[in-house]
Amino acid sequence: MTKLSEDKLTFSKLRMPLIIMGIFWVVAIVLWQTTGKIFFIFNFGYIGTAIGVGTGLYAALPRKKKYQGRRLSQLLVGVYMLVFLGFIEFENMQIEGFFFYLLAGFFGGATIHYLVAKVAGPLFFGRGWCSWSCWTAMILDYLPFPRNKQGRLPTRWGNLRYIHFALSLGLILVLWFGFGHRVQPGGSTTELYWLIAGNALYYAVAIILAFTLKDNRAFCKYVCPITAFLKVTSRFSLLKIAGDAKKCNDCGACEKICPMDIRIIDYIKSGQRVLSTECILCFECENVCVPGALKSTWGFDCGTNELLNMKKKPAK
Ligand code: SF4
Ligand code: SF4
Ligand code: SF4
Repeated sequence: MTKLSEDKLTFSKLRMPLIIMGIFWVVAIVLWQTTGKIFFIFNFGYIGTAIGVGTGLYAALPRKKKYQGRRLSQLLVGVYMLVFLGFIEFENMQIEGFFFYLLAGFFGGATIHYLVAKVAGPLFFGRGWCSWSCWTAMILDYLPFPRNKQGRLPTRWGNLRYIHFALSLGLILVLWFGFGHRVQPGGSTTELYWLIAGNALYYAVAIILAFTLKDNRAFCKYVCPITAFLKVTSRFSLLKIAGDAKKCNDCGACEKICPMDIRIIDYIKSGQRVLSTECILCFECENVCVPGALKSTWGFDCGTNELLNMKKKPAK
């Protein structure tokens, strides 16, 4: 297959963007019909269309420019969630907001968002949220360190995310049961303050970490509490990256570009798809690979081994 035919836009390449858009519109219509709230048509219709446009652009662009489709999707969804739902509608989309709404028994934007994008969605699309929609990553991906050249910090640093998760949950439980704090249906200025303070803290920590460790995605790798959900269900993701050992020439380009430091070649050599729960389905690896050696496929598999490129210890 020539490079030209790889870059050529065909209807089959647009099939996935159309399916994704269709799924969101079905969810929108079902929720609208069952709850009677027109908001669901607007919300899921918009998100599905935004991701559809982003993935469509990704399909249409040549390999070197495909990342622009992903960035567009990330921007369209991220800005909508943070600015419209958060700052204008006063819905706290942070994990702390989700815990509050869950305790209050509200079935609204944040609750549905977490259940769809961060719990059930990863069973199908893995951690696609992290590449195509996250409002934190939509800023991080513009920082100057898209590749982590040193490898990952020791595994124990990844436990920070679980500590963060426990602290967030603990704080909400103390406020709820200890101080009687309650959230209002439809949002309130208190939710807005939570959202502003929480996001400011997340962005500050994420940007400081990115510059300190020279790695845009350091916050995702060690600190983000959302991964406590994402890493559980994305393990079973039907969509994963698959390698063809016969076509792979061991050039290493995929591992060099992978923002999550995954040992893609070792997965290929062991005859497995990329089973790592660190994979964010950015498809950067596919775009630097020789035609046919790497592609995203549907199937059922899971594994417990995390094959990651770790930081080398200095020689004594
Ligand atoms: S790991 Fe967290 S901050 Fe990073 S992209 Fe995923 S949800 Fe966003
Ligand atoms: S970029 Fe492709 S060919 Fe090169 S090592 Fe990775 S999978 Fe193999
Ligand atoms: S394995 Fe490929 S798709 Fe997964 S994070 Fe790495 S570059 Fe992205």
